[in-house]
Amino acid sequence: MRCSVCGREAVIRLRHAGLRLCPEHLVARVEKEVEGAIRRFRMFSHEERVLVAVSGGKDSLALWHILTKLGYQADGLYIDLGIGGYSERSREVSQAFAEERGLTLHVVSLAGQLGATLDELTRIARGKPCSLCGTVKRYLMNRAAWEGGYQALATGHNLDDEAATLLGNVLRWDEGYLARQYPVLPEEGKLVRKVKPLVFLSEREMAAYCLINGIHYLHEDCPHAQGARSIVLKGVLNQLEDRYPSTKISFLRQFLKVRDRFQPPEPVLLHECPSCGMPTAAEGACRFCRLKERVARHALRVTDDHGTSA
Ligand code: SF4
Ligand SMILES: [Zn+2]
Ligand SMILES: [Zn+2]
Repeated sequence: MRCSVCGREAVIRLRHAGLRLCPEHLVARVEKEVEGAIRRFRMFSHEERVLVAVSGGKDSLALWHILTKLGYQADGLYIDLGIGGYSERSREVSQAFAEERGLTLHVVSLAGQLGATLDELTRIARGKPCSLCGTVKRYLMNRAAWEGGYQALATGHNLDDEAATLLGNVLRWDEGYLARQYPVLPEEGKLVRKVKPLVFLSEREMAAYCLINGIHYLHEDCPHAQGARSIVLKGVLNQLEDRYPSTKISFLRQFLKVRDRFQPPEPVLLHECPSCGMPTAAEGACRFCRLKERVARHALRVTDDHGTSA
């Protein structure tokens, strides 16, 4: 198999792009796609500071690597969710990546901010781990970016992630989510701009990019990912892609052309949470502060029970 660009030995075939690429041209393609997405969607400039949400996985570490290589001012943020040994291993990988390259990685611990790890919170709030995780991660990422004076918060969502999210939103015809599904969400007050520079790159490309560049990432998935709806949706899309290459990229690109037909049902009015000062659409305290209160009440009950039984 020969590289479509230079004719040397190719290491990957990208059927959706009609390309076979050698290591050098795979790297060039990935970096060009990232730069193209940043410019096309006006994600950020070289003068702005970007905070990359790092999970220890291939996408976020590769994204951080690419942004610094392209000359952007990018620091990392790791949120330690306290998901058993998985969180420990992903934190170690993220810290090693930053140390090897002399990059700044901020580490925020959910237990330190909320009073409970995600596993404890799931038991206390009797919720689904991924739903609670989404709430606390969104809050902590935005707060860290806002307090750190970053102009943009970048996540490593790739083509496979975005196509699966889109399929989920379409299956529910969720107009509000469809209207908000875009590679960049503008800043609004204390809500920092959110950007997804890997939106047109597939998981396979990102894994190959890491391999070629010697980026060591955590190969294991979060234990809560098993059975998550997004995994099922990805499986369905992979089957379609096998049969009809470029299904995912056309699904997403065509959607972006018609997306402005979807409108959020009504504009969401935000106010400042009386407890933490961050923006919220909820009445009274924000969802994070309410969860924090719940964790604190639970801790008090446990202390009382122990005191009574002692
Ligand atoms: S799989 Fe669920 S719990 Fe695990 S990191 Fe992702 S959203 Fe959080
Ligand atoms: Zn080549
Ligand atoms: Zn709050």
